[in-house]
Order: sequence, then structure tokens, then C-alpha cells
Amino acid sequence: MKNIILISAFILLGCNENKLNLKKEITHDFGIVIHGGAGTILKKNMSDEIELKYRNILEVAVKAGHEILKNGGTSQLAVEKSINILEDSPLFNSGKGAVLNSKGYAELDASFMDGKSLNAGAVSGAKKIKNPISAAIKVMENSPHVMLSGNGADEFARQQNLELMNADYFITERRKKNLEKVKSIENISKKTSNKINYDEFYKSQLYGTVGCVALDKHGNLAAGTSTGGMTNKKWNRIGDAPIIGAGTYANNLTCAVSSTGWGEFFIRTVAAFDIAALMEYKNYKIEDAASLVINDKIGKLGGNGGVIAIDKKGNIAMEMNTPGMYRAHMNSEGKILVKIYKDE
Ligand code: ASP
Repeated sequence: MKNIILISAFILLGCNENKLNLKKEITHDFGIVIHGGAGTILKKNMSDEIELKYRNILEVAVKAGHEILKNGGTSQLAVEKSINILEDSPLFNSGKGAVLNSKGYAELDASFMDGKSLNAGAVSGAKKIKNPISAAIKVMENSPHVMLSGNGADEFARQQNLELMNADYFITERRKKNLEKVKSIENISKKTSNKINYDEFYKSQLYGTVGCVALDKHGNLAAGTSTGGMTNKKWNRIGDAPIIGAGTYANNLTCAVSSTGWGEFFIRTVAAFDIAALMEYKNYKIEDAASLVINDKIGKLGGNGGVIAIDKKGNIAMEMNTPGMYRAHMNSEGKILVKIYKDE
């Protein structure tokens, strides 16, 4: 009898807890997170003026997406418009200001995923598309394919009436200098036959990929990522950003994720999907899933970077194993967070 009473008490307590959780679940019926890349971003290397520029543009971009969501717009539109703002800013490694390949021009990668339908689209190695994330969305909506590459991607974007630019539009002085720096590291290593310290080598490149994840009032999640990839990349190298499951993933059952960092590691660990899978199959909380993938899986292999993620209840993760990641979050109450350094 005593046992029956105890068991009933536990069941009742359990029900109450569930109700409490349910209440917590509807606290944020929409929300948005953006990133502008993870890497060796240190306060000591940043002037106040430049830091302010980053914080301002992150704020503008997250607010633009938030406004769309607040007015009942879709997570897809919020992701696209926020990313467009970051792509148009020369500060980030996407669209204008993308890093340069070994031949001195930008090759652009982007992908988008819709968490409701699990539809997705991507472009890789595009050379002319002003806003690659918009092209990725068009691939999803208006082609029977998921990923288009190179000249084909540019041609498809032209047919979709998206804006195309000459190679010069994307090139900035800062990226030209970065390219020279990375090339000289490679040359020194060739001359001295010293193996490149790849960790230092990649860390010496300024990352700056952009991404956005959003939950809209209709309960739909979406994720997008857009990048120029890695400085001095050769042989039409493609990173994780245009790869669904690695750089971008969204599923209404779990979460939406956008990755940034040393792409090869995010491909090998299928990072974005892994976060969603940990939540779907193992009931992980979003922050725990993001931490496990970034620190335990990617970190242990020697990779570095970060992710942003939002779940179907508006809980978020902004996880990195680098000293910084440009990032911003707004919840349904309009509370805004803009951060750069890891320990802020
Ligand atoms: N993940 C991107 C790539 O490997 C680069 C970055 O996020 O900075 O292409």
C-alpha cells in the first residue's frame, strides 16, 4: 500500500513537471540567431572602431530577421534577409568581402534548409552571384536538385533573375592582403621543406562565414549558411557550408543549425546533422548536443569552429572552441544579445 502511494505521488509529480516544462516550451514562440564566423578573434587584435562596426552590423542583421518573424513572416525569409545583410557587408567572408582562392578571386558557397519540408538547396563555387543564400533558396524552390556548382550555379542564378556581379565586386584590399600572407606561409614551408603547421596555418586565415537559424510563429525552423570558404583554396575546394548535414541542417522535429570553422572537420563529423540527431534519437538538450559535437567530436579530431542552433521551443546554442565567434540572438520578447569573444 505504502508503495502504491509513493508511486502515485511520483506519477503526480511527473505530470506537474511536464506541465511546467510545457509552460516553458511556449515562452519563446519565435527567435533568431546569426553568426559571422568563428576563429582566432582576439580583443587585443581588434580596434574599438572595428569592433563597433562588427557589433553594429550584427545588430542590424539580427533585427531585420527579427522584424520579419515578429510580423508573422517565415523563418525562411528571416534567414534569407539577415544573411543578405551580412553578405553585402565587406566585413564578413561571404558575398562582398569573401576570401580569395589561390587564383585571386572569390568562389562562393551557400546552403539553405527548411525544417518543415526537409527541402534544401545549395550552390558551391559560384563566381558571380551577389547573394549566394538567395540562389540556394531558388535551387530549393525552382529546380529539381539540391546542389548546383560553378558556372552552372551562376547560370541558374541568372535565369532566376538574381543579381550577378563581376569578380571585382567581391574583392577587397583586406582579403588581397590575407591571400598574400597565406601564400607566403605556404612558400616558406615549401622552401624550408618544413611541414606546414596546419593548425596555425588555418588559424592565420580570418574566418567570417555567415549563417542564420530561425524559428517562426508557425513553428517552422530554417537554417542558412553562406561563405567564401578558405583563403588560398585550390582545386575548386568545397567546404562544409554548402553541404546539407555538415554546414546547415533544419528539422522541425528538433532544431536548425548553421556551422562555421574549419570545414573539413564539419564534413567529416556531419556536424549540423549530428546535433539534430543527438536531439532526435537521444533526447539531448540543444546546448549539450552543440557542445558535444564542437568540443568532443570536432575538437578531439583537431578541428575548430562553432555553431549556432535554435530548437523548436526557441532554446538556442552558440557554441565554439575558438577564442571568438561573431554572433547575435533575439528572442520573441525582443531581448537582443550581440557577442564576439568566447568569454563575453
Ligand atoms: N566553414 C567554412 C569553410 O570551411 C569556413 C568558415 O566557416 O570560416 O569553407
